[in-house]
Amino acid sequence: MKKKRTKIVATLGPSTDSPQVLEKIINSGAEILRINLSHGTNSDHVKRIKLARKTATKNNKYIAIMLDLQGPKIRIESFSGGSVYLEEGNIFILDKSIDPKKGSVNGVCVLYKNLTQDISIGDTLLLNDGLIVIEVLKINGTAIHCKIVQGGLLSDRKGLNKSGGGLSVDAITEQDEKGIKLACSLEVDYIAVSFVKSEEDIIRVRELVKQNNGFAHIIAKIERTEAVENIYKIIDFSDAIMVARGDLAVEVGYASMTALQKKLIRLAKEHNKVSITATQMFESMITNSSPTRAEVSDVANAVMDGTDAVMLSAESAVGSYPEVAVSKMSEVIIGAEKHESFKSLNDYRINAIFENIDESIAMAAIYIANHLNIKAIVSLTESGSTTLWMSRLRSEIPILAFTRNLTTVRKVLLYRGVYPQFIDIVDNTDLNSMDQLISETLMRENIASPGDLVLCTFGDLRGIPGRTNSIKILEVRNIES
Ligand code: PGA
Ligand code: MN
Repeated sequence: MKKKRTKIVATLGPSTDSPQVLEKIINSGAEILRINLSHGTNSDHVKRIKLARKTATKNNKYIAIMLDLQGPKIRIESFSGGSVYLEEGNIFILDKSIDPKKGSVNGVCVLYKNLTQDISIGDTLLLNDGLIVIEVLKINGTAIHCKIVQGGLLSDRKGLNKSGGGLSVDAITEQDEKGIKLACSLEVDYIAVSFVKSEEDIIRVRELVKQNNGFAHIIAKIERTEAVENIYKIIDFSDAIMVARGDLAVEVGYASMTALQKKLIRLAKEHNKVSITATQMFESMITNSSPTRAEVSDVANAVMDGTDAVMLSAESAVGSYPEVAVSKMSEVIIGAEKHESFKSLNDYRINAIFENIDESIAMAAIYIANHLNIKAIVSLTESGSTTLWMSRLRSEIPILAFTRNLTTVRKVLLYRGVYPQFIDIVDNTDLNSMDQLISETLMRENIASPGDLVLCTFGDLRGIPGRTNSIKILEVRNIES
């Protein structure tokens, strides 16, 4: 069967702690496993990462680990009874002077100290991912009096957002700094930064990763209005973006979100960056064994938008059918990819002036690959940059990243249409042995048979990152003959 090109990020949690479940998740198509620092303890995270790596190795699979920082999510504190039911039309007060454990139907504590400065009379505030809507009527000292516009059940520690954005918390909290340290000590491949406001947040995380001798690549979660406003700079400074639809929809209004998703995916691609589409993709599978038709459509549409990866959150972390969610997601991806039109996209960047040699090689390689009957593209790569460029163009041909760097193997797992292959080569491996290695590997992996053509890109100065300068069309053959 044809391999899927779009990747799956599956969040780990209590539901994936059994080695058998994890094994199925990895074997059914999840290439990136996400740890969400908003839930669980450090010892949970360490155990999960260890088990994930062990299970992948045992199954001869590669996986990348993503660690998602909690970020400065503003939350309400607690109620005396764990939750309250808010009735539409009543008044509800947010006040840092209320006892943090003794909220009631009349009001609750919010410890965020700048709340009274950041909001004005008439603002709409949203609680519990937008399920409860309140409007600010007056501000009396520390007490913010609000009218309940849309009521419902509100329980302890739920999130608070402002419609239109503008709650001005620093993106990188002290807790996040600890998270970054943990990420570096665990050698994770990707760090996702929550509630990014501007490129400054990304620069700060990169600095901290460097200080802690990490190598993690940085994903900016786009989930605030400010991030949408600063999107060009944020994309520039990040390795990838996540369309974090949970919080994003609350901030921009859910009716604007789908168009925004398409725009964000397109912008990432145009700037040679990666995109992940996240949240509620198979939401009903938290309790059901099949997705709804609407959810199937949502995943398929994200694939057709050109996203690199689709993500499972609670569906895998705390759901009843984590491995089924992954295998059904794979099935939907393959279905969607069958119906894409590639040929019409061959003029992508046709008028662009490329900035360097390896980028030009990548573009030319895809042009040849889409016009000649070849089985695969083989990119000999140190850092994965050539494969990143190639995978920004749509094509049906698999892009194999042959690399001797295990960090590159795991990094490119997130790129659409890219399949890493670890190879054991040294700097002075001659080109004939290289050809032989490529032929043998492709035949062994059932990607190509003798007589098939494959396209290879490589640097004739081996071992120097970013030095791809050559294209070669190779006929796969048994070397003995
Ligand atoms: P979260 O981020 O799951 O960490 O909140 C994703 C989102 O907001 O969509
Ligand atoms: Mn979020």
